[in-house]
Amino acid sequence: MTLLGTNTYLVGTGTHRILIDTGNPNVLEYQSLLKKVLTDTQSVISQIIITHYHLDHIGGLSDTRKLCGQDIPAFKFDFKSPQLKSVHKYEDGPINYIQDNHVFSVEGATLTAKYNPGHTDDHMILWLEEERAIFSSDTILGEGTTKFTNFADYMQSLKDIKEMKPTTIYPGHGPVVSEPIPHIDYYISHRQRREEQIVSLLQQSDQSALTIVQVLYKNYPVEVHGEAADVVLLHLQKLQGERRVKCRGDTANRESLWTMSMPNKL
Ligand SMILES: [Zn+2]
Repeated sequence: MTLLGTNTYLVGTGTHRILIDTGNPNVLEYQSLLKKVLTDTQSVISQIIITHYHLDHIGGLSDTRKLCGQDIPAFKFDFKSPQLKSVHKYEDGPINYIQDNHVFSVEGATLTAKYNPGHTDDHMILWLEEERAIFSSDTILGEGTTKFTNFADYMQSLKDIKEMKPTTIYPGHGPVVSEPIPHIDYYISHRQRREEQIVSLLQQSDQSALTIVQVLYKNYPVEVHGEAADVVLLHLQKLQGERRVKCRGDTANRESLWTMSMPNKL
């Protein structure tokens, strides 16, 4: 179902279905559409899977439970980071935290949950065995590129999806991707190109996230420069994790200076 921004998916062919994501809270049109689909197919929701904690994926959970059954179990991955765990604790009902490779099955659908962080620390994708397809949630969208909170994790997650060789990608937003490999390659190369540009600037002289943005985003309005600087910081933090760059100050500060770790080899 693709109403209003977030795609949610009702999976299975029998009387019991799995709902992947619940959309935003208080979207009455969505809830009545869901009810209609369940009535038309004479089915009920037996399990709800939440791909990650963002409101446009988990926000409709309590509405859906009110409409379809208060005791429908919901499943997601927990956060790796203890700090995020306490900040984003879900308090509108019970959640079951699952481990990597947890399998869900109903008639017509076998789904394997794969931990796939980067967009967020608790993010999962789902492998649908019957179609060899992936529900990618926000790691890969139907169009445009997505945001990430950890760049190293995000790149690894893209590579993990590519290795699974899906025949189809059902994204969390945007149209279904029927040719996944070129689509994933575009995501990977787009980010790698940015990284190469950042490294090449640092090879010329020390830079802050803001000075990098002034070069790489010079054709974009200044209003987006702050957000772009945060993306550049995530790139720099990944390079720091690989010991390729060093920071001369607070790694979260857009004005801190960064330098290459090793002298350039010719
Ligand atoms: Zn998201």
